[in-house]
Amino acid sequence: MSDRVDRFPVPVDGTVPTGKTNTYLVHGDEPVLVDPAGRTPALDTAIADTPPAHIVLTHTHPDHLGGVVAYGMQTDAAIWALHGAENALAAAIDLYPGSTFRDGDRIGPLTAITTPGHAPDHVAYELEEEQTAIFCGDLAIEPGSVFVGGQGADMAVYLRSLRLLADRDPDVLYPGHGEPITDPAGTIERLIRHRLDRERRIYEAVADGARDPDAIVEAAYDTDLAGVRDLARLSTIAHLEKLAAEGQLAWDGSIATML
Ligand SMILES: [Zn+2]
Repeated sequence: MSDRVDRFPVPVDGTVPTGKTNTYLVHGDEPVLVDPAGRTPALDTAIADTPPAHIVLTHTHPDHLGGVVAYGMQTDAAIWALHGAENALAAAIDLYPGSTFRDGDRIGPLTAITTPGHAPDHVAYELEEEQTAIFCGDLAIEPGSVFVGGQGADMAVYLRSLRLLADRDPDVLYPGHGEPITDPAGTIERLIRHRLDRERRIYEAVADGARDPDAIVEAAYDTDLAGVRDLARLSTIAHLEKLAAEGQLAWDGSIATML
């Protein structure tokens, strides 16, 4: 970890990797709080010592923003939203964000990099010092993989964002869940390969006659899906949408067929 960055794993509800979301506090002239997922005693203490000037989110999923209002009110920090995603944030936290930014803008020491796919309003934040660190939200995780599916998700766009992240050649990634990622290139390559492997199995399942998502999931996964079958189904649908957009098969929203 950079001396400037503190990580606080915050327990959250729902099916999330590790059961916790990382909240980060970036120290400096303009301290930044990234993804305040909730209140904890450790965060209360840190924020009393270092009140943030800015609060930013990697995206507006509920497991990343449970502490925005509390810490925003307590500190008078500017609450930032990606331009165009103000309403999504306002709906999620019941408070209209005071500031907006666009791709490439600076917020204190951080540079915003729009990285949609996991969520349409997903943003990574780059901190450049001796080393380049990127707060990558739910773009990457080690080990395992992040969920890409359901409302607003786009598998093709997610893969493009992963490649964009690799192009920045960061030294370290600070993810939304789990430990800092010290081999970003290796992890990103693994995640891309994981998606493409799954996609090939989904394509082959359809080629072998599977039609509806449940049958395709059955054929394309050999891992134990207890408790995550719904997520696997949504992820499979996201792959089917990508394959259909690429003209590799037909997908009408409920049935997949070969062309
Ligand atoms: Zn998320």
